[in-house]
This record gives sequence, structure tokens and C-alpha cells, in this order.
Amino acid sequence: MDEAKLTAILESKGIIFPPSFYSKLSLYCELLSDWNKRMNLTAITEADAVYEKHFLDCLLLLENHDFANKRICDLGSGAGFPGMVLALALPDSEITLVDSTKKKFLFLEEIKKTLQIPNVKFHIGRAEEMDCFRDYFDVVTCRGFAALPIFLEVAAPLAKLNGLIVAMKGAKADEELLGAKNAIRALRLTYKGADRFLLPECGETRVELIFAKTGSTERKYPRLWKDIVERPL
Ligand code: SAH
Repeated sequence: MDEAKLTAILESKGIIFPPSFYSKLSLYCELLSDWNKRMNLTAITEADAVYEKHFLDCLLLLENHDFANKRICDLGSGAGFPGMVLALALPDSEITLVDSTKKKFLFLEEIKKTLQIPNVKFHIGRAEEMDCFRDYFDVVTCRGFAALPIFLEVAAPLAKLNGLIVAMKGAKADEELLGAKNAIRALRLTYKGADRFLLPECGETRVELIFAKTGSTERKYPRLWKDIVERPL
């Protein structure tokens, strides 16, 4: 997928950006491919695939949600997906990227500086150890971070009451949702529905599962990572 096709798809969905936004995406793509030669950032580096599987995939989050003027947290951002792309798309929102792998932030710092994205913040550390951010975010996102019950246990405490939690998943999303019923109840979340897309060139399914934090999270969550993983809710 090239820039023209990405622009056309987004504009057909009412998602409009100025040319400077697309120039920055192009630079992001170049830097990603360049840095990936030295550091394992992503398996997807070919420009066509970056535009479709990274940029389009992340920007589709904007189709059904108003994320302007929000505090957004992206858990396990890796090379910045979806968090950095959202920061670029939502200049009035404050986006915090969280990852436990310190060296990924060398790349993210470079993107922030070169693309001039002042509204992005970095938190180097473990997502389950962010007590200082309890009840702080309007939206918590993740893609490729963890199985659904694990993500929900880590994300729920970080979201504000009535905040949203968004899990970007693939074709197995419905199965994952069934397996997370207990976690949804225990964490006092409400499942709000799914946004489904077919990526047009590779034909892969993308499903965004949306949850609202409708009750305050009990203090015992999140548990230690070992317990979260060994005994998921
Ligand atoms: N969201 C990106 C990267 C997914 S890979 C994308 O979709 O391309 C998962 C990332 O989560 C890795 O960068 C890893 O370092 C990070 N991660 C895994 N467990 C974590 C934890 N407990 N806290 C913070 N980051 C974690």
C-alpha cells in the first residue's frame, strides 16, 4: 500500500490529515527500516507492508472513536504501534508509550525528535508496575502485548472510571473474548463491542475489542506478573 492509497482509504472514512502528516509517516517508515537493520524492532519493514499493517491498522482506531483531547496510554508499544502513530494523528491528546525494553526508546526518541511529536511521553518500565498512573488515562490501548485477560488486568487499573480499553486483535479475537469473560467481570469492565476491518491488500482480519471501565478496579489488581500470567483471571 502506498501513501496515495492510504490517504484515499482514510479520506473515504472521513479521516483527513494535512500533507505534513503524510510526510512524517514517510520519514517514520524510512527510519523504521533503517533502525531495524541494527535493532530488532518489527518483522514488517517493507514500505508497502508498513503502510498497511502498521499505519493503516493503527489509524483505523480513529474511525469510530473521538480520541481528541484525551490522555491515552499504549501498553507494550514496541516500535510505536499504535501509540506513536496516534500521537502524530492526535496533536491535542497526550500519549504515553509504555515498554519494558529500554533500547526500543532509543528509536522512539529519534522518531519523537525527528518528526517533532511533542505530545508523546515515554514510560520505560513494566505495565503492571504503574501504580502512580492509577485511574489516570481516558483510553488504554495495546496491540500484540499480551493475551486478553492479561492485558485487561494490567489496563483496568490505569483507566479512569468510564475510560475505554481497546485491544487490537486479529482473527481470533472472538475466541479470546470468550476466554476473557471472567476477567471482564472480576475487573468490573463492560464489553462495548468490536470494530472489524479487512486490511485491503493482505486480506488479514483486524478486530478492535472495546471495553469500558464501569466500576473501580479492586486494589488487589494488577497482581504480580508471575500470577497474572500463571493464573490469568
Ligand atoms: N505494540 C507493538 C509491539 C508488540 S510486541 C506492535 O504491535 O508492533 C510486545 C511489546 O510489549 C514488546 O516491545 C515488549 O517489550 C513489551 N512488553 C511485554 N511485556 C511487557 C510488560 N509487562 N510491560 C511493558 N512492556 C511489555
